[in-house]
Amino acid sequence: MKKHNFSAGPCILPQEVLKKASEAVVNFNGINLSLIEISHRSKEFVEVMENARSLVKELLDLPEGYSVLFLQGGASLEFLMTAYNLMKIDGKAAYFDTGAWSSKALKEAKLLGEVDVVASSKDKTYNYIPKDYTITNDVDYVHLTSNNTIYGTQFKEFPKSDALLVCDMSSDIFSRELDFSQFDLVYAGAQKNMGPAGTTLVIVKDEILGKTGRTIPSMLDYQIHISKDSMFNTPPVFPVYVSMLTLQWLKDLGGVKAIEKINKEKAALLYAEIDRNSQFKGFAEVEDRSAMNVTFNLTNEANQEVFDKLWNEAGISGIKGHRSVGGYRASIYNAMPIESVQVLINTMQQFEKQVH
Ligand code: PMP
Repeated sequence: MKKHNFSAGPCILPQEVLKKASEAVVNFNGINLSLIEISHRSKEFVEVMENARSLVKELLDLPEGYSVLFLQGGASLEFLMTAYNLMKIDGKAAYFDTGAWSSKALKEAKLLGEVDVVASSKDKTYNYIPKDYTITNDVDYVHLTSNNTIYGTQFKEFPKSDALLVCDMSSDIFSRELDFSQFDLVYAGAQKNMGPAGTTLVIVKDEILGKTGRTIPSMLDYQIHISKDSMFNTPPVFPVYVSMLTLQWLKDLGGVKAIEKINKEKAALLYAEIDRNSQFKGFAEVEDRSAMNVTFNLTNEANQEVFDKLWNEAGISGIKGHRSVGGYRASIYNAMPIESVQVLINTMQQFEKQVH
């Protein structure tokens, strides 16, 4: 029987997507060739790319004027690419430091210009989202990480300013309805709610590009990727295909609105148990809790072995906290069934009875 997979990423994908993907590796759509042995310029693959792109536009209800790209290099390369494409020469950008990924993003931006850290939650091991900040109007853009995968916090509201808004949505894209017109650039590594690792989704408002005055290396230049329909170089065909399947799965399920409702239910159930159960305490501030990565600790660390044994026996996998923070983290992305969340809750209750 398949394990209850709470891994933070790469992570659970819908079972039917895995099945279709495995079939396509052997024989893609009955053409007697594998998806991964045909040209990326073949009519079959071009159709996959176009379909994936239009599903993104449809599911996120993107306004006109945005391009959708499937790139490589992970969200980590986007830390640099966003700065390359948006930071003016002698420019300045505002960054929210709300976790390890934000810190890595701002480190790359510092290679190209001045970085103003407008707010940070480092003082409390990133367990909250700072609400008190000022964005000056001399910045080229504002950058934030919508969901902090490691610490389990999530922006519920986004800053409003005259500057461009750039968002790393790696761990919560497609999980909740948002007004995308408030963002100028969004990027997300595929390996949470979209597909396997190996491709990065970039959504960018066309009119913001080409204004920095700097020379951008071709592979880092969004305008080049847009002009080549994400095929400036050979795209990661398999991750793009599996992403397309996952997006189709999401559409069939009722889209982002439908999954948001389920995600809220799953998160509410799990957080309610954390708050009720005397053996656990939540890590993140209640109002900033993530609906994707639920972080918690034992009230008595000495019982760790007992709890670890129990969840292992229950067929649960991937709930150990990130190596930098410890504790536990249950990632409950789109493809995580509510039944698996219930198994975790039952295990937590069993644990409470056992150690009480
Ligand atoms: N940003 C966030 C919010 C992430 O969760 C991750 C990876 N877990 C990254 C960036 C880095 O992504 P990648 O490994 O694809 O470079």
